[in-house]
Amino acid sequence: MTDKKPLLEIKNLSVKVEENEIIKNLDFTVNAGEIHAIMGPNGSGKSTLCYALTGHPDYHITGGEVIYDGKNLLEMAVDERAKAGMFLAFQYPVEVPGVTLQNFLRTAYNARHAGNGDGQSNKINVLKFWGYLKEKLKMLDIPESFANRYLNDGFSGGEKKRAEILQMAVLEPQVALLDETDSGLDIDALKSVADGVNKLMNENMAVVLITHYQRLLNYIKPHFVHIMSDGNIIKTGGPELALELEDKGYSWITGDKVKAEA
Ligand code: ADP
Ligand code: MG
Repeated sequence: MTDKKPLLEIKNLSVKVEENEIIKNLDFTVNAGEIHAIMGPNGSGKSTLCYALTGHPDYHITGGEVIYDGKNLLEMAVDERAKAGMFLAFQYPVEVPGVTLQNFLRTAYNARHAGNGDGQSNKINVLKFWGYLKEKLKMLDIPESFANRYLNDGFSGGEKKRAEILQMAVLEPQVALLDETDSGLDIDALKSVADGVNKLMNENMAVVLITHYQRLLNYIKPHFVHIMSDGNIIKTGGPELALELEDKGYSWITGDKVKAEA
């Protein structure tokens, strides 16, 4: 094994939403081949971090830097970030009636991959894309008919999440941020999402799993578990940290701070 390749280096990052500083001097590094879990109570800034990294206009970076695969991420436009392989699976996926999943995925695929060679001419055509998509569907055990449904329209919670994992499979991201991909899933749906992530994971990419509950981590083994509270990572450990949290709740870590404020 050679040295680890950093894909995402967050240094001293601060992020403001409206007038409030939500992320406070955060340091966080993710290397290729690693799965990181970020856990923490509601409102600690986990989703804010994701939105800030993907360049959402409501989230203002007030300090620090983010190096993505050696480049200054904060100077990259939103579409450049996606093109460079940054992927965010939203906590609350949107519904787009009238657009089939297949069409949506092809557009997203072209946005990510076209133009890397000779301009826009290397867009994939419908037939070729269907061939590519069929392999991804097969790998993830998703029936072909699923790709012809309208995006998220009438999808169950589990189907929305599967659609996201399928999107991840199609886009082949370098860094995948999965924000509460497990929320609202029953155990079978949870297993199938976890199974998908495990199949897609490889040495050249990294996954950041944001989760409120330990149970997803029974199926996706993270290399590191971080606890976020009040806009910062206050503890980092291995998978055992997640088990400890499940056992004791968050207060044993965040508790001394609450006491200090009281
Ligand atoms: P988590 O994902 O850890 O539950 P969030 O990042 O969603 O936490 O929220 C962190 C804090 O930022 C909360 O206090 C929330 O109210 C605030 N916040 C997040 N997004 C917005 C927004 N768009 N407008 C106003 N406040 C926001
Ligand atoms: Mg959140």
